[in-house]
Amino acid sequence: MIVVLKGSATDEDIQEITGRLEELGYRYNVSRGEYRTIVGVMGALDEEKQQVAEQLEGLHYVERIHFILKPYKLVSSEWRAERSTVDVGGCVFGGRTLQVIAGPCSVESREQIVLAAQAVKQAGARLLRGGAFKPRTSLYTFQGLGYEGLDLLVEARKITGLPVVTEARSARDVGPIAEKADVVQIGARNMHNYDLLMEAGMTGKPVLLKRGLAATVDEWLNAAEYVAAQGNLNIILCERGIRTFETATRFTLDLSSIPVVQKLSHLPVIVDPSHGTGRRDLVPALARAAVAVGADGLMIEVHPQPERALSDGYQSLSTGEFEALMGELRSIAAAMGREI
Ligand code: PEP
Ligand code: MN
Repeated sequence: MIVVLKGSATDEDIQEITGRLEELGYRYNVSRGEYRTIVGVMGALDEEKQQVAEQLEGLHYVERIHFILKPYKLVSSEWRAERSTVDVGGCVFGGRTLQVIAGPCSVESREQIVLAAQAVKQAGARLLRGGAFKPRTSLYTFQGLGYEGLDLLVEARKITGLPVVTEARSARDVGPIAEKADVVQIGARNMHNYDLLMEAGMTGKPVLLKRGLAATVDEWLNAAEYVAAQGNLNIILCERGIRTFETATRFTLDLSSIPVVQKLSHLPVIVDPSHGTGRRDLVPALARAAVAVGADGLMIEVHPQPERALSDGYQSLSTGEFEALMGELRSIAAAMGREI
């Protein structure tokens, strides 16, 4: 249930209504927009709540009461009409500027991550990616450097100033990642791991939530709600392709999900064309399309020597390829009234 307050509602009015909800034992969340304040009341719609709604509707500062029938609430556009932004060390996702996150699939060594960080920064990326805890399909492939990798990311940030994004593979990783990195990434394979989502939400850190390999948009937004319900609305959604019958690409990059998500949710949404296609030769075309479709940013795998990468080298751009792509993306962003 959403209680929309009139523009004239005062702080005292807000206190009164939230006090009343507290007395009734409801959990709620207050969202102060530019023109109106919205109080979202959590929990199922039952007869009692219907009755409470009727009482609240009579308050002079209440404009209207609205019932959200979707299973997710805090992340829905019904809850918040304006688009939300997520600020990561001055890089704002969801604004006019597109944010590009680039870097290797995995952190492999000090030299590799520092070289990658310097090169992607030089080309215009605003954030550095790199996996320290890798969720690999085969147990017998490189699993990441773990805590050592995390420390190397911190070093790369110190040298370049780029905020770092890295994946928490289990709830155990969340604390150290939240402490050292700037964004806690939840990978596609973990999108349904609700304990992990809640743990990440509780840190209050920005969370980059990838779409599951076989998740519908609805399931994806429901997963985001687990993070949001911890009081953390710093969520960046990331489309990374879904499994279909097509085998020419590693996954099928569902670019239609971008405008769909933008209708259903206020959260910023970016695109990962690297995992989405699994092919270096296709990454530029899909990255261009992602900007044209209105994404709020990109996550792109870039490696100083893709042919020597310990993971996902076949889909990683070289630093030169990345630089050329950034030039193309700038023109497309400008045509869309945005900038990179
Ligand atoms: C990644 O970005 O490093 C990754 C493993 O991606 P995904 O979870 O989308 O497969
Ligand atoms: Mn990868």
